[in-house]
Amino acid sequence: MTDTIFGKIARGEIEADLVYEDEDVVAFRDLNPQAPTHLLVIPRKSIRTLSEAGPEDAELLGKLLLVAAKVAEQAGIAKGGYRTVINCNAGAGQTVFHLHLHVLGGRALQWPPG
Ligand code: ADP
Repeated sequence: MTDTIFGKIARGEIEADLVYEDEDVVAFRDLNPQAPTHLLVIPRKSIRTLSEAGPEDAELLGKLLLVAAKVAEQAGIAKGGYRTVINCNAGAGQTVFHLHLHVLGGRALQWPPG
């Protein structure tokens, strides 16, 4: 199992600006925000990237989305609109190989993303 900075955050070994946590999922503020609100939602379980998730992770993946919606609501960006993004592998820009879901909002977002 490879360890990452997000694995350490999930285990409470290093600090992050947490906005939500439960037994399966942790959400925190991105250190280098790309929008006025930029949150990251991660499973505590170490999954390198979305393409390595399996059928046994179905419930956990659903929970990540529900937590994303909850923290977006709490952050006050739900009404104005927000985007969830999962960058899968390096070609899509993934740099931290612990599955994470970005939640971006608080400004107008362009489509398609770069
Ligand atoms: P990218 O770095 O291209 O956005 P990812 O999709 O892998 O690729 O996203 C990693 C995200 O993690 C980045 O937005 C980065 O700012 C953020 N990040 C890295 N280290 C930390 C940290 N210790 N605490 C909070 N956010 C972090």
